[in-house]
Amino acid sequence: MRKKIVAGNWKMNMDLAEGLKLAESIHKYFSEKPAEKATVILCTPFIHLSGVHEIVKHGKVFLGAQNCAAEASGAYTGEVSAWMVKSTGAEYVILGHSERRSYYNEDDRLLNKKTMLALNAGLKVIFCCGEVLKEREDNKHFLVVKRQLEEGLFPLAAELIDKIVIAYEPVWAIGTGLTATPDQAQEMHQYIRDLVREKYGNDTAKKLPILYGGSCKPSNAAEIFSKPDVDGGLIGGAALKKEDFIGIVEAVK
Ligand code: PEP
Repeated sequence: MRKKIVAGNWKMNMDLAEGLKLAESIHKYFSEKPAEKATVILCTPFIHLSGVHEIVKHGKVFLGAQNCAAEASGAYTGEVSAWMVKSTGAEYVILGHSERRSYYNEDDRLLNKKTMLALNAGLKVIFCCGEVLKEREDNKHFLVVKRQLEEGLFPLAAELIDKIVIAYEPVWAIGTGLTATPDQAQEMHQYIRDLVREKYGNDTAKKLPILYGGSCKPSNAAEIFSKPDVDGGLIGGAALKKEDFIGIVEAVK
């Protein structure tokens, strides 16, 4: 049985004090009432990582970043390496989010490089994939996701895949209020699991968590998460409100 995961992606929101306050309230809630069915992860901006780690380190909530550099160290002004992320106490990093792909031109090759650096640093990677609206309208969504995985992830050796979580995020559903139907999510998640099975075998495919992301809310999470190949969610907007985020975690059955 795969344990489900609910990961909050705070994006570029909240100053340090606001972020620590939200982390504290989520940590307190899950310390008193542990989420039995789901692993809970907070993916914060870099500046929040150490402070949030101090709050959650003896609790039930895990910590992740939202990006890392494509180089290991050196003269890369403004960048933050995977090793730096790991040194804060974070265990996860989101890579390949559609906002990084589109606003910062991160392509599949670069994402594969970042993924290798993150894994070498001892981080687990939440690797995002997903099509834009036009690609879905043109019925190219399977092809796009296949390419993103084949070029970004599948160069990895089999023994590294158990450090990977895939997040399927249809770009047309991110921050738009539009959600993939549970059947659309299941169809793509099953397709992704089949690709992983072809490449790495059945055992790996069965163990790999595949999260759904795109306008998840407490009101739609339970139905989406009930699908057999949906192993939880990557949550943007709703991760910024304690009640909504907790509501989504508690939708995991
Ligand atoms: C995301 O950015 O990963 C995301 C899923 O955002 P939202 O939940 O706001 O659609």
